[in-house]
Amino acid sequence: METKTSSSNFIRNIVAEDLASGKVSEVVTRFPPEPNGYLHIGHAKSICLNFELADEFKGRTNLRFDDTNPVKEDVEYVESIKNDVEWLGFKWDNLFFASNYFGEMYDRAVLLIRKGLAYVDDQSADQIRETRGTLTSPGQESPYRNRSVEENLDLFRRMKEGEFADGQKVLRAKIDMASPNVNLRDPILYRVVHAHHHNTGDEWCIYPMYAFAHPLEDAIEGVTHSICTLEFEDQRPFYDWVIRECEMKWVPHQYEFARLNLTNTVMSKRKLKLLVDENAVDGWDDPRMPTISGLRRKGYTPEAIRAFCREIGVAKSYGIVDERMLEHFIREDLKLKALRTMAVLQPLKVVITNYPEGQTEWLDAENNSENEEMGHRKIPFSREIYIERDDYMDNPPPKYFRLFPGNEVRLKHAYFIKCEEVIHDSEGNVIELRCTYDPETKSGSGFTGRKVKGTLHWVDASHAVPAEFRLYEPLISDEEEEDGQSFLDRLNPNSLQVLEGFVEPEMKDASGGDKFQFFRHGYFNVDPKDSTPGHPVFNRIVSLKSSFVV
Ligand code: ATP
Ligand code: MG
Repeated sequence: METKTSSSNFIRNIVAEDLASGKVSEVVTRFPPEPNGYLHIGHAKSICLNFELADEFKGRTNLRFDDTNPVKEDVEYVESIKNDVEWLGFKWDNLFFASNYFGEMYDRAVLLIRKGLAYVDDQSADQIRETRGTLTSPGQESPYRNRSVEENLDLFRRMKEGEFADGQKVLRAKIDMASPNVNLRDPILYRVVHAHHHNTGDEWCIYPMYAFAHPLEDAIEGVTHSICTLEFEDQRPFYDWVIRECEMKWVPHQYEFARLNLTNTVMSKRKLKLLVDENAVDGWDDPRMPTISGLRRKGYTPEAIRAFCREIGVAKSYGIVDERMLEHFIREDLKLKALRTMAVLQPLKVVITNYPEGQTEWLDAENNSENEEMGHRKIPFSREIYIERDDYMDNPPPKYFRLFPGNEVRLKHAYFIKCEEVIHDSEGNVIELRCTYDPETKSGSGFTGRKVKGTLHWVDASHAVPAEFRLYEPLISDEEEEDGQSFLDRLNPNSLQVLEGFVEPEMKDASGGDKFQFFRHGYFNVDPKDSTPGHPVFNRIVSLKSSFVV
């Protein structure tokens, strides 16, 4: 697999220049998730960027939970995020929680008040929004904007002590209500929220806003390059204002890149949580979810996800990446690693009438035709086998090379068989085929007597292991939302198809996470949750081929 470790991008160039010029002596990055949901493939891009940059330049990366909003956060999310980052193969230098700095953040806010740069506003959130102005007109100053430093100090202390109800008062920066940058029109720094926090419990009832907290967190931790997504570009002047006016010793810098979007999916924790809450999926790790845990359960490997993130690069402008690109990388990763075996997803019984009853022979099968090192295995063959239901037709169209009355095909790793008789049920459905085999045509025997055009996969009926197969389609259809529709109205009703079939006996004891290539069907992963001893469940990761070219 391709290992591009140092694909150049504009952020990497900045880091390289900063190190060369001595602006920084070591690169320190961070991945700062808010623990309000499970991570998705977009986060993977940010994780790879931050960790790989630091790794390349022998710097450090911290995992920092940006846990400043107690209402939406949960320890379950904290644990899942740690797990996902580790699974991707990254090791953080330090594990930090923004909430550990609440004390320092409070002190910095007091400093702003003392400097006349922050004030307590009694207006409601709605009033504040309404008086912010627009892109073309300035905002209006709050009637509370000119409170004295003493009054502000007193009110802010009383906010902290729990004297006020949620929403009754906020602390605002005092910058410029006429600024062309709306983010500088006295943004809110602190709000009152009487809620239990996953880390600090009930110690605080005021919480810093993200835009105020984030630069402080970066400065406290000595982050050199604070990498975030493009929608924060207009926040950068406020980021720099906070660092400067709060008199932070360390001065971090913010750089923005375009967030990853994928076709056929939604990529926001809020929307993904809605899918979970509405039971539209089987939890955050449902294989149809673009979450890291969903991709893992589907069968993606960290190697494939990292290669994908490298390939898509780091851009300054928005784009949507075709999900087939992600699929390309898992095929590439598994091509030479996965055992290639046979599975019948929709079984049709075939009786080989001239094969001795009660006899089983063990045929030789290579484990991976492109990787000789994976060796060989023995597969059973006897009088009754299963083939795929749609590998037979009563009245085939031209150029159909599979089974039909009188036609001969090759069974992969076994013999040629010829369809002699078809058994239908009372409704005309095909329920069994009677075939004959030619012992001369054994695979590997060097037989050259005649050729057949079709090769079918099969499993021996008496040794087959029953298995469930789960096939996926995109969860969300790609159509445009009509007015008043939400993405929940665009759910694809066929996103999951469940089939009951058979696999080779070799796979009876397959364990969760084992990956196989099933001949003609694609790559599958053993579901770690729903597989039971003797009855594995296989999630299709991806089919074998795609017309998509990377
Ligand atoms: P969401 O809207 O999905 O919750 P978020 O940006 O609010 O995303 P955070 O937990 O705040 O989620 O994000 C942690 C980091 O991951 C941030 O630095 C953020 O910029 C980055 N990130 C989030 N989504 C993407 C994406 N789609 N592509 C690249 N980076 C992303
Ligand atoms: Mg967020």
